[in-house]
Amino acid sequence: MKPLLQFLASITVFILAVSATAAEKGILAGAAEQEITPPEGIEIHAARPNVGVRDPLFLRALLLQDPTGTSVAIITADIICSGFSAMDELRERVKQKTGVDEVWFNCSHAHSSRWLRATPPADNRWTEEMIWDEFYEHPLRENPQEAAWNQKVHRAAVEVVAEAKKRLRPATLHAGRAPVQVGFNRRITDANGWTSMGVNRDAPAVPWVNVLAASDPKTKLPFAVLFEHPAHPVTVPPGNNLVSADFPGTAVSRIRQQLGDDVIAMYGQGCCGNINSFPLRTSFADADAAGNKLGEAVLAAMEKSVPIDAKEITLRSKHIKLPTRPLPSPEVIAEWKKQNENHPARMRQLNKMSTALQQGTTPPPRRFDVYGVMLGDQWCLVGMSYETFAEYELWIDQHAPFAHKMVFALTNGGRAYIGTDEALAMGPNGGYEAACLPNWVGHETMSPHLGPPAVGSEKEIHRTFESLWKRP
Ligand SMILES: [Zn+2]
Repeated sequence: MKPLLQFLASITVFILAVSATAAEKGILAGAAEQEITPPEGIEIHAARPNVGVRDPLFLRALLLQDPTGTSVAIITADIICSGFSAMDELRERVKQKTGVDEVWFNCSHAHSSRWLRATPPADNRWTEEMIWDEFYEHPLRENPQEAAWNQKVHRAAVEVVAEAKKRLRPATLHAGRAPVQVGFNRRITDANGWTSMGVNRDAPAVPWVNVLAASDPKTKLPFAVLFEHPAHPVTVPPGNNLVSADFPGTAVSRIRQQLGDDVIAMYGQGCCGNINSFPLRTSFADADAAGNKLGEAVLAAMEKSVPIDAKEITLRSKHIKLPTRPLPSPEVIAEWKKQNENHPARMRQLNKMSTALQQGTTPPPRRFDVYGVMLGDQWCLVGMSYETFAEYELWIDQHAPFAHKMVFALTNGGRAYIGTDEALAMGPNGGYEAACLPNWVGHETMSPHLGPPAVGSEKEIHRTFESLWKRP
């Protein structure tokens, strides 16, 4: 063989050898955690001064990396919520400091925890959208203790992913599901078509837990367990002023009791927008009962889980804007102004509507993001911003072409609710999560969007989910 051909042949052999080694290698996984319990004295959700800790809050990360180096850090945190400004900032910092390709941050939505906010901008000027996003009632600069905690959580996200990266090791992944339900649909529509909150056992809910476990290929022992089941963590009693992770915290403890304290167990919140845990706001004992039940279901799902042998991670994301419901006529707005003269906050919203009409503009749309991490056609995790209704999770389960599925809402930002088209079409009767004016109980009426999303948003969201796995 001529020297050039010999050289080319040796290169070919070398390339084949390298790709064979890469193909033989599988997924690497690493997991870590850090406690983020806020110190006594600083507020927890609903302006309650925290007087102590019932159970601690954690930030946890599972890092997955494929043989080509593609990596995703899945962070879960015992935090009630976090807006786009905080999430964009945090995710970018984690990517830059740790070199991972993608970072997902899921909030458990535990109601006895705190909001995570963006760090204050250099000029301390917060846009109205940032204030809304971060539920920003008191400037962080006025309370150094709150600012310090906020910074600590931002730092913890970087440190936990960096630690998970250090711990990367060959892993066998298993996916499973078991039946369980710790909550019920909370929307009840009466004979007059009016929707209020209660326990509706007949309306949609997600009756299972999805589990992904990472185990040592030799010992077969799990070292990380990610599980997801949608329900508002609102079982602990109201007005108790103790920090708590609610039922997800107990579920993690139950799993560790069985598998060992060194196993990183992580709870991801699913599409819980219309699901409350049951019973609502009663006792820590009830929260523990719900958490133990969920933990048992996770262990049962692991028992019958199946191995995922796909070796390639595919990451996708899509960002859209959801239009807001069209504005009413100037005459209708004028009438509402007469009724709300003594409500400055409402008058602000109504004046903004008048200005938009005069200028021929529409209310600002909502940013809506979806994310996908896929392992061949065997497993996918679909994540989305906002508190979406359980129907969205059920739709993904029915339509995503993967053997095993997991769904996260409250991921990477967004604030509050996105209902189904059916709920949005109810107009003022649509209840806390979906109602428009003149029902001021509708949560979204006070938003910078001046109302809930427009009817038609559900179909747009379904198309966006599909774009994660459908190629043109
Ligand atoms: Zn909520």
